Amino acid sequence: MTNVSTLPVQKTTKSRLSSIDFANLDFGKYISDHMVLGEYANGKWSSPSIVPYSDLPMSPAMLSIHYGQSVFEGMKAFKMADGRINIFRPKRHHARLNKSLNRMCMPEIPEDMFLESLETLITIDHQWVPSGEGASLYIRPVVFASEARLGVKVSDLYKFVIMTTPVGPYFSKPYKLKVEDHYVRTAEGGTGFAKCAGNYGGAFYPTQVARHEGFDQVLWTDHKEHKYIDEVGMMNVMFVLDGKLITPKLNTAILDGITRDSILTLARDMDFTVEERTISLDELEEGFKNGSLTEAFGAGTAAIVATIASMNIHGKNYSVNPPSPESFQLKVKQQLLDIRTGVAEDKFGWNHIVAIK
Ligand SMILES: *Cc1c(COP(=O)(O)O)cnc(C)c1O
Repeated sequence: MTNVSTLPVQKTTKSRLSSIDFANLDFGKYISDHMVLGEYANGKWSSPSIVPYSDLPMSPAMLSIHYGQSVFEGMKAFKMADGRINIFRPKRHHARLNKSLNRMCMPEIPEDMFLESLETLITIDHQWVPSGEGASLYIRPVVFASEARLGVKVSDLYKFVIMTTPVGPYFSKPYKLKVEDHYVRTAEGGTGFAKCAGNYGGAFYPTQVARHEGFDQVLWTDHKEHKYIDEVGMMNVMFVLDGKLITPKLNTAILDGITRDSILTLARDMDFTVEERTISLDELEEGFKNGSLTEAFGAGTAAIVATIASMNIHGKNYSVNPPSPESFQLKVKQQLLDIRTGVAEDKFGWNHIVAIK
């Protein structure tokens, strides 16, 4: 925790908190009372302020909606067992935001501006952080080009917003995956490692096609040969094969997930063998056939761990047994939840605890 904030704060006159049904939190349904609003002009960010969450005026010629300069982050704050509030790994999210901004020719956000505005927002809206196992306040920072101009150009004006939404524990039935061997989410050299809006826009159609075919999600493969695994939906993907945890090695087509990094770090700490490397479909198919592939799951902030039940590889369906309570994925998920709520030791310095007066 840093110093007392000096940001300008304009508080809402009518909080919506009492109208929120905390027992039924559909993801992203309610946006908390306040937001951070920062502006970039004349080559610099001015000091952001905290304002009531509201619409922003915009021109239909705003560059971001035409040419796609828009990047975001997704992270979480938790109510700890002792009642304090913990933002999970915000510095790492900030570093990734700047990487995304760079790739999209957008101005970086200084770390102190990011952290101070984030902490102030969470402090003001601390009552929006739900309690209960697996519940959290989802935090969405977004930066977008706001200059109004029809010519193709790099924008000279940007806005930085942080908004939050309370979310319950993530429940989803285990995924039935389609291995995508036609469409791509991105390609090496493209924007796959950046959390930019366009990556999502381009992924909707192939995902919708897969849904119509009866699958829940797409397993993305490399753009050249569709032989090697990249990611699952909008999550990183991991397997337990021959008793080892394997995941695709990062490249410019893969997003450097913070859940991925946390899980790999915990696995190494649990003396689990970890391999970050190229993973081929042939190898997975072999693992399904001989029984050495024992777990498959997605890793991301929203779900932490999303169990994969089956994979359709070139029209053939392979399934994985449901994870037992002793499985790596369920153990590591619990470990991560326990670190965030302060039940387990925060060995790696991931927790960023906010002081509430
Ligand atoms: C956000 C995202 C992830 C997961 O990253 P986390 O930091 O773990 O939430 C994985 N893949 C893609 C494409 C993403 O956009």
